[in-house]
Amino acid sequence: MGVTAILADFLHCTADPGLAAGGDGVEIVRDGALLVRDGRIERLLPARALEAGPDVAIDDWRGHLAVPGFIDTHVHYPQVDVVASYGAQLLDWLERYTFPAERRFADRAYADAAAAFFLDRLLENGTTTAAVYCTVHPQSVDAFFTAALRRGLRMIAGKLLMDRNCPDDLRDSARTGYDDSRALVERWHGRGRLGYAITPRFAPTSTPEQLALAAQLAREVPDAWIQSHVAENRDEVDWARSLFPEAASYLDIYDRAGLLRDRAVYGHCIWLDDADRRRMAQRGAAAAFCPTSNLFLGSGLYDLAAARAAGMRTGLATDIGGGTSYSMLATLAEAYKVQQLQGVSVPPAQSLYLATLGGAVALGLADRIGSFRPGREADLVLLDRNATPALARRTAASADALDDFFAFMMLGDARAVAATYVLGSRVAAPAAASG
Ligand SMILES: [Zn+2]
Repeated sequence: MGVTAILADFLHCTADPGLAAGGDGVEIVRDGALLVRDGRIERLLPARALEAGPDVAIDDWRGHLAVPGFIDTHVHYPQVDVVASYGAQLLDWLERYTFPAERRFADRAYADAAAAFFLDRLLENGTTTAAVYCTVHPQSVDAFFTAALRRGLRMIAGKLLMDRNCPDDLRDSARTGYDDSRALVERWHGRGRLGYAITPRFAPTSTPEQLALAAQLAREVPDAWIQSHVAENRDEVDWARSLFPEAASYLDIYDRAGLLRDRAVYGHCIWLDDADRRRMAQRGAAAAFCPTSNLFLGSGLYDLAAARAAGMRTGLATDIGGGTSYSMLATLAEAYKVQQLQGVSVPPAQSLYLATLGGAVALGLADRIGSFRPGREADLVLLDRNATPALARRTAASADALDDFFAFMMLGDARAVAATYVLGSRVAAPAAASG
């Protein structure tokens, strides 16, 4: 099979650039060529060094900015119908919007259609990998993975575990939750580029027995992911602690159960203290920072500097439908503002990291995705500097590719995505973009 050379300006992280301005950990290749063979990156080089032969196909995106495909570390596909619903904070929002929406996923045909819709929104926004919550129904996971497999995507997902404090028709039991998850692991984990995530919604909707069986499954499948929510909202923190009075903190509920480890990703992590953050770091667990959701639901401000100081890893996430945009660019804009409110101006290199390599590190996948290093899977996004009049004018005056990227964060969304590539093949045409 031949080689494809994608021509563009390339920008990616090779390491964590940190919070100091500078540009360490970033590689920029202006007028570059990315050589892709069998879906994997062979080499990134200056286009002038490219030796074109009859077996090299050229995809010409000169003038565009290429970055690695975005990685959304926390998102709910069954919430496509309730995103942007008015007027509630977390616990009320679950009752009013989330539970009624999730009920519909008992119907496999409904779930199939929602999964296809959701993945099309991710791809038109340049997101090529996500850690996805399904519903309590196993068929919601089958629907999602079937759609992801068809598109060749690297996706992580799992069935919600929820055996108390929820409507009867959305409740599993500790035993059926374990059995259904185990069967889904066997059906999907490691198939194509798919990975299974053991997914207790959050401690208040799982009994101690359910958390214990989730941890048992995690021990039985050591390379599976674990995903849940922690310390999003103050009422939620109080509720969780009242349900588990023996735990030293909300996070400690998961630690005592055996659910903190590598490949465990916890959404929000706002109301943690430094001891909790250090525990996350020691266990190898990562946080999913969900800025549009945290602002929309009035939950609080994620402290990125404190997370970094404690050694806790952070990935970025849209958290649709608590979050309000499918776009990781728009999500980065809100992430920047959330840190500004805490006195930290996140440099563009760190923002790029959060949406790409940092997400891959949080998910334990940095050897597969998140950068343009040789051997990585060729998932990438082509950004159009002329996508809108505002972007064209701003990027004409920009200093370098990192400055361009910052402008894309602040002014861009799906309109800025000219093309998305999965395993070296283009999948989303600009005509499909709809926000
Ligand atoms: Zn969530």
